[in-house]
Amino acid sequence: MLKLENYRETINKCAHCGYCQATCPVYLEDLLESHVARNRLNLINQVLILGSMPSSQRFKEIVDRCLLCTNCTQTCSSKVPVDEIIIAARAEIGKGKGLKGFVMSKMLQQRGLTGLMSKAGSLVQKMGVAAKQMPQLASKSFDQIYSGTIPAQGDQRGRVAYFVGCGTNFLFPDTGIAVVDVLTRNGWEVVIPAGQVCCGIPAISEGDLAGARDMVATNLKLFDPDNVEAVITDCTSCGMMIKEKYSKLLEADDPLQEKAQALAGKIFEITDFLQLKGLSAAPGSLNQSFTYHVPCHRGWSPTVADAPRNLLGSLPGAELRELEEPERCCGAAGTFFLQHRDLSESIRSRRLEQIEASQADTVITQCPVCRFYLSAGLESQQVTHPVILLSQAYNTVSS
Ligand code: SF4
Ligand code: SF4
Repeated sequence: MLKLENYRETINKCAHCGYCQATCPVYLEDLLESHVARNRLNLINQVLILGSMPSSQRFKEIVDRCLLCTNCTQTCSSKVPVDEIIIAARAEIGKGKGLKGFVMSKMLQQRGLTGLMSKAGSLVQKMGVAAKQMPQLASKSFDQIYSGTIPAQGDQRGRVAYFVGCGTNFLFPDTGIAVVDVLTRNGWEVVIPAGQVCCGIPAISEGDLAGARDMVATNLKLFDPDNVEAVITDCTSCGMMIKEKYSKLLEADDPLQEKAQALAGKIFEITDFLQLKGLSAAPGSLNQSFTYHVPCHRGWSPTVADAPRNLLGSLPGAELRELEEPERCCGAAGTFFLQHRDLSESIRSRRLEQIEASQADTVITQCPVCRFYLSAGLESQQVTHPVILLSQAYNTVSS
């Protein structure tokens, strides 16, 4: 369970080595030692676990001013799950009980209600966020385009289920269309369970563990991991949530615990799955240069960051132009960019400079929020999902 009391021992494993300093996007921007993971952990321990220090507005800011990017967790020499401890601290502080948490929880539990999503625009304006900084809803959500079972093209190799994240469903249905296209071309029957809701990551980021558990339960009841080769996601954050957090959000004796663990064993990011299984259908050419913004939430799979490079880099006409610091955060982090706009924009500005310096035609990334946030800052380069480029390469063969 993601409860702070369960991290009493783990939090003391921090050796204060400072490795986490070098990878924290917030520290690298503001150079405040209090924002390095070891200091956040120490404060959480003192204030919320030991009760040896009083809570304060500054303490809450330190807990809040974290992207939950997991860079510190991935580099921690003592394997302290810093992101989970910060989530548990936010839950303890009651962050998710405010207006934003309530709105988000209600919004994300009602997948498919695009009317409700539209109302988010006016609510966000009331929160003081300019409309131009909000991602635009697609005219047709993915679940209005595809549902049910889509048969494999040609000889069937097997069946996969598709977990469609909110980013793909509401903002970038082109990613979902490409996922279905590439999977079915490669002999996979694609099952899209109806009634899927958000994976729950925005809710846990707000410290709303109860809201997240509702979403986890809804999704777990819909998926049957034992009857598919894999459960596919196109989003690295949804993948991390399902792989690493679903089981931890449930009590040990929860009847859904077994299902959560089975699903964790079957979840794959789309390009990672294609790399693992190989392509049975040969793509055509790509004829463009691309660079790769590696999403922060990559640690749940050791090969997820290689897959787009391997799949696309070898296509005729493709030129991979590696970014300086390919794994540097873009500053978006779910809704962080709405709540900490100046900080996010500073983090993003360095990323944009690196992307512009690459002079690549296209930027690829598997995170829809990175895709939106980088696109909003770039003048001429397009940002897209790697599976979209792969689908385009297939269509050069078909045409
Ligand atoms: S999760 Fe990211 S932003 Fe938060 S402390 Fe760790 S490295 Fe810094
Ligand atoms: S890398 Fe891990 S052990 Fe080292 S200071 Fe940071 S949180 Fe503590």
